[in-house]
Amino acid sequence: MISVDKSTFKKDYQKKFLELHGMELVNGTNFQKYEALGSLIRDYVAESWINTRRKTDKSKEKQVYYFSMEFLVGRLLGDALLNLGIRETCRGALNDLNIDLEELENLEHDQGLGNGGLGRLAACFLDSMASLSIPGHGCGIRYKYGFFEQKIINGTQVEAPDNWLREGNVWEIKKLDKAEVVKFGGEVKVEETNGRIIFTQVNYEPILAVPYDTPIVGYKNNVINTLRLWSAEPVSNEFDFSSFSRGEFLKALAYKNSVEAISQVLYPDDSVYEGRRLRLKQQYFFVSAGLQSIVRHFKKHGGKIEEFDEHVAIHINDTHPTLAIPELMRILLDEEGLSWETAKRITNNTVSYTNHTILAEALEKWPIDMFKTLLPRIYMIVEEMNKRYCNELWNKYIGQWDKISKMAIIADGYVRMANLAIVGSHSVNGVAKLHTEILKKQEMSDFYYLYPSKFNNKTNGISHRRWLLKSNSDLKNLLCETIGDSFIKHPMDMEMFHKYAYDSNIQKKLNDIKLKNKNKLAKLIYETKGIVVDPNSIFDVQIKRIHAYKRQTLNCLRIMDLYRQLIENPNLDIVPRTFIFAGKAAPAYYLAKNTIELINAVAEKINNDKRVNDKIKIVFLDNYRVSLAEKIIPATDLSEQISTTTKEASGTSNMKFMMNGAVTIATLDGANIEIKDEVGEENIIIFGLTEREVLNYYQKGGYSAWDIRNNDNRLIRVTDDLINGFYNNDKNRFRSVYENLLTYNDEFFVLKDFDSYLNAQNKVDKYYRDINQWQQMCAINIAHSGIFSSDRTILEYATGIWGSTVLYKNL
Ligand SMILES: *Cc1c(COP(=O)(O)O)cnc(C)c1O
Repeated sequence: MISVDKSTFKKDYQKKFLELHGMELVNGTNFQKYEALGSLIRDYVAESWINTRRKTDKSKEKQVYYFSMEFLVGRLLGDALLNLGIRETCRGALNDLNIDLEELENLEHDQGLGNGGLGRLAACFLDSMASLSIPGHGCGIRYKYGFFEQKIINGTQVEAPDNWLREGNVWEIKKLDKAEVVKFGGEVKVEETNGRIIFTQVNYEPILAVPYDTPIVGYKNNVINTLRLWSAEPVSNEFDFSSFSRGEFLKALAYKNSVEAISQVLYPDDSVYEGRRLRLKQQYFFVSAGLQSIVRHFKKHGGKIEEFDEHVAIHINDTHPTLAIPELMRILLDEEGLSWETAKRITNNTVSYTNHTILAEALEKWPIDMFKTLLPRIYMIVEEMNKRYCNELWNKYIGQWDKISKMAIIADGYVRMANLAIVGSHSVNGVAKLHTEILKKQEMSDFYYLYPSKFNNKTNGISHRRWLLKSNSDLKNLLCETIGDSFIKHPMDMEMFHKYAYDSNIQKKLNDIKLKNKNKLAKLIYETKGIVVDPNSIFDVQIKRIHAYKRQTLNCLRIMDLYRQLIENPNLDIVPRTFIFAGKAAPAYYLAKNTIELINAVAEKINNDKRVNDKIKIVFLDNYRVSLAEKIIPATDLSEQISTTTKEASGTSNMKFMMNGAVTIATLDGANIEIKDEVGEENIIIFGLTEREVLNYYQKGGYSAWDIRNNDNRLIRVTDDLINGFYNNDKNRFRSVYENLLTYNDEFFVLKDFDSYLNAQNKVDKYYRDINQWQQMCAINIAHSGIFSSDRTILEYATGIWGSTVLYKNL
């Protein structure tokens, strides 16, 4: 927490602007004003940053490193101001200078180095670790291009590169002196000296990993942690130069490009990674650089390598950073000279792993040949781990060859990352109760029987600072007025708001806040899409990646049915609704892109049909990202969480919505179940197949999409509308969606859940008519959202997995 008053801030800011731009503030562009503000805040942060590091280097507290291929942090300015406790001072000072803080905040380019939930979770965790004074840092890749920028053109997704660094990044600091060399390829030379076998990688391709550090500001506690992202560079410029002198300039350039390719792009989700050598390279690149720098730092400050696991915890976010396990083994064996047994013990105690999905196509595996050629020494270590581990299995499961080969790390020509992660770590956690149960019962049951104590649940969470305090300040103020501000540090205290749920004054105030937020969003919708929407209609929102299992199709079919009903009966008595969608489809995921086309075609037709426009409108907002989510969520009445039961490991947008006073319509999937348990059945609208029914279909079959369709006239009509030219002259335009539902027998049970979903939507309509009753539900949702703060999640990780017993003290 820094103390600075308005007039000092003003002076500092003007000075900073002059220094940075060499001109007076009045002549600057808004972007220049943003840049000056950002770098001033970074200056403010610098001192606490150094202090934090000095304290933790001296103390013996456990350092946590969160390894993740993705960090979806979004914008940093607003959060940094909030957490430093100077957002209002800053707003006032800028006001005096005729500058609008929000306008500047909106100019910051989102740091979009992630696909969706997994990357956003990593970002919320960083915020919580800093705010809870836990010495915890992020380690990842500084992709030159983030997740692609999405534009909807003629109703279709068009991808453009996300050149987020084009205008610079005020938050990062390049640390050339902290660079590490990562080695690829070559061979392993084996020699014996003094009875010890020495392994050396020779003829390898060296790549320089250069770290860029970003400060992560804790909430009013003077703690500044670090997000360290690695960028790939050629090891030395001399290489270029000597080649150049030999007239091989192009060759040198090619080398440079191939090196830089490593940190060039983020792979989109939902693509098949198999065979993607570059992705394997990315994984080893940041994991090796990260571990080398952690060990170097640890030793520099007097740490004894035999006690490494007492002072360092390494967490791997999904299997993407699993190479941390053999890489740590390599360092301990080859560079520190420890025995296999000691190295294995330290590695197991240090590393913990989170599983994020049970979708089979998302399980990572690498062809042995590729793995071995790219990482020869790492492969030897994995092979040895596999050998020793399979020996154990042979003794335990005598003759059960199928089981053993299923559980092996290396089998069928592949290295399996999930198996490696389970064997090489001390903790495996799922991200919601149901998900963890499914892991134990089904997907990983063999491992659960082998290592029952490794398995545990850590239900996901979200940072209430970003998703409530910062993005919905009116709601925050109402909470402070009613229950005081203790919930800011202790989000569970939001429960005190429960009793206000029955107070009609509070219900009215909640409705006013919601309406104000809806007006703001309506303005944004008009400015970006040219569509006029009615802020008094129900804002019915589904925003998330477009994926078959998330079932945007179910939502869309229901809108198509409603539209047909309204054409037939223009006097149909419904509460007006605005359906809002946003989300990106992986560029190679044809069905998801076709779903976007369908939603946009339905929107085009409905929005231009005057017969129904006082009742329904549809909006698909372009380029879903963190900063857009922050604007949509506070304006939402109804949160759509309608994935096929068992498929959504947790979900986190469901938590953001409830915290902002939306009612959820949901299947009993992921964390929706836990939301239901918190708010009670009467404050959430549940529909759809149960876990048991879904698993039954998958195991025993018996599902017939055609039968379900043919027995429901509404389904016959809407599925016909997909292919009869009703929404597009080209009858084949939505063929992919159609075939997925019928020809390929509806893998995600959209048709089966249709009836129950429509009934649930009728309930929404009924409840919303009594706006006080509705706001009572919203209030109860808000009151019980505290448990979904990522502060709760992080405390569980800290005590249950990392063993961070001592937090930063006396800073
Ligand atoms: C929270 C969030 C997600 C995750 O959403 P789910 O609905 O849980 O899949 C994805 N993208 C962004 C930008 C988010 O803020």
